Amino acid sequence: MHVIYGGTFDPVHHGHLRLAIELCDRLEVDHVSLVPCHIPPHRGDTGASASQRLQLLELAVRGEPRLHIDDRELRRAGASYTADTLRQLRQELGPDHPLVMVVGTDAFAGFDRWREWESIPELAHIVVVRRPGPALNPEGIPARLLTKRRVEDVASLRNGAAGCVLELDPPLLDISATGIRERIAAGRSPRYLVPDSVWEQIRQQGLYGACPEGNF
Ligand code: ATP
Repeated sequence: MHVIYGGTFDPVHHGHLRLAIELCDRLEVDHVSLVPCHIPPHRGDTGASASQRLQLLELAVRGEPRLHIDDRELRRAGASYTADTLRQLRQELGPDHPLVMVVGTDAFAGFDRWREWESIPELAHIVVVRRPGPALNPEGIPARLLTKRRVEDVASLRNGAAGCVLELDPPLLDISATGIRERIAAGRSPRYLVPDSVWEQIRQQGLYGACPEGNF
């Protein structure tokens, strides 16, 4: 089973990393691929460039063999569309290999606004990680998709290549990249919210308004 977990990772933080490890354990896979997106179609500009975000990710997963980075979206010109990524992976993995895309409930709530969203369940399984915040609108397409395709266990994902939706409710750390960017810009420290190596690099490069001599 191949598991991808995408995001802007602007910057990557312990909430992301902890979830990725939790996914390895719960989905019983030997690694999860983190897929940083290039130009997120649903957001404005990112705080750091694509290559800076990638560098921070590389520092964050160093020494952790279960966390891989798949930088294919950064290597593609233009916007990142999940359907394109999944199509590419499907070609590489072959038609029968289970492929899993992980999303938080916040991202899944807007699923029907993603480009070619209808093709996504044909290409991959979806694991929806429950995050705090409003529940899905029961009348909306994402909630209906969940009801129609829901499975209750990981074994069901292994039985097919694509098409199922599994909800997971792992413990999550209350950390957001937005909060980290705001802290840094205000001259405060994000220490212990991100790996020390990531914070060190942010300071050295002055990312997100960090001052190399300040922000302790
Ligand atoms: P931002 O605050 O800039 O929106 P973010 O911290 O939410 O960023 P993203 O890169 O946008 O991070 O998120 C990528 C994926 O990680 C999304 O599916 C999101 O639901 C999930 N995610 C974000 N923060 C956490 C967290 N603390 N724990 C678990 N999952 C998270």
